Amino acid sequence: MGWKPKADEEREVPAAKAADAAPAPGKKARTDALPAAKKPPAVKEPAARQPSIGELNVAREPDDPFGFHLLDNEELGLPPAVGPREGARTRFPREEYLVWQDYQLLAPAGVDLGTPDEYVRRVKTTWGSLQSYLMWRNDSDALLDKPLPSGGTVRRIINEHGETQRVFFYWVSWEYHRRGLDDAAIVALFEAQIVGQMREAIAAAEAKLGATIPVQGFCPRPQRDDHGYVMGTLSEHGLGHAVDIEPSKNPIVGAATWHAIEARVGRKVDRSRRRWEQHPDQLYDDLVAFSLAWAAIVVDEIEAARRAPARAANFARRHPGTLVDYGGVGRPDAAPHPLLDDIPPPVDDKQLAVKTIARLLHVDLEEAAPLAATPGYELVSHPRKRVLALREQGLVWGATFPNCDIHHFELASPPLAPWFVDDHRRAPTRTDPDFESSLERF
Ligand SMILES: [Zn+2]
Repeated sequence: MGWKPKADEEREVPAAKAADAAPAPGKKARTDALPAAKKPPAVKEPAARQPSIGELNVAREPDDPFGFHLLDNEELGLPPAVGPREGARTRFPREEYLVWQDYQLLAPAGVDLGTPDEYVRRVKTTWGSLQSYLMWRNDSDALLDKPLPSGGTVRRIINEHGETQRVFFYWVSWEYHRRGLDDAAIVALFEAQIVGQMREAIAAAEAKLGATIPVQGFCPRPQRDDHGYVMGTLSEHGLGHAVDIEPSKNPIVGAATWHAIEARVGRKVDRSRRRWEQHPDQLYDDLVAFSLAWAAIVVDEIEAARRAPARAANFARRHPGTLVDYGGVGRPDAAPHPLLDDIPPPVDDKQLAVKTIARLLHVDLEEAAPLAATPGYELVSHPRKRVLALREQGLVWGATFPNCDIHHFELASPPLAPWFVDDHRRAPTRTDPDFESSLERF
């Protein structure tokens, strides 16, 4: 991205940030506004429109329209200042204000930065200066509208929308740039979705299996932590180094939730990277056994929860008077209690599963939902030979991550030591007489 300074271009930036300039998602706000020199003279705006920061600055400091300015909260479109700063005007650097506003646009997506000031500080360390960041955002906006060979534009692939999408993409495009990708290389990657090495690894694994592997997951995004996106990072999915395989059947389980499952099952699994490298078969077998033990616990608990109303009704029949609804006025309700109906109340199986898992693990419903949606409440649905074929190709399984990411496989850096399914079959580490014959055929 070659940036060339254009004085008139800079002048237009604040105009696009005016309070009334929030475009509908997909509208090309920034690129519509630039470059200023090619635009016809501005039509007179309605009186209600807030003046842009640029206009305020020109009016206030004609000799230095883009330097530092005194703006109060009202002029900045902010809530009134309270306390000792009430009514005070602040020297508010224009650059800082624009970056500050970007933070507000980004906040709905969730970021690892708590305040606009933190965002400003991080921008300074990442881009070197606020000015470099503001230059970058112009170029980055243009890249969003680059056409892809297969149709559509780069914008189509970004998983945030509207104004959030633009700011989000400043980070992402910067990280591509830092890794040596120019605009053409970015477009090529977005088109290919995975790098050649990953494509070859998947193809080789599929050849071994004689079946296709349903891979997905290209996404140009930063990595995430508990608070949201982390500036200065790029997901392996954004580099085409990772794939997700059947995520609805192979969930990602956060570290804390995984510990809670271990506590319920009563044992731990060695999910170390070292074990994946040396004994992926044992790791897989352990995880499946663990998954089945957990699923059995969930099934039992759900059954118990489902029977609870009927058990209560039986109790009530044996002990008349225990389930009488006195209502608000203290008189017995003539209608029988619903639990005493012959027909048990309907149970929403899905909700029951989510609530049961949330209760078992002491997690919220949102965390429990993916675990309640897998077939049979199991954690691992990959076939054994698929996982081992991907290990043979040198991929790393996300099940070895602290946040156990069971659907995720990525390229290893540095490469893993070679491991061959066939060698493994010829050299069993166990000595049981029937062991060899019990091995699954590949
Ligand atoms: Zn993934």
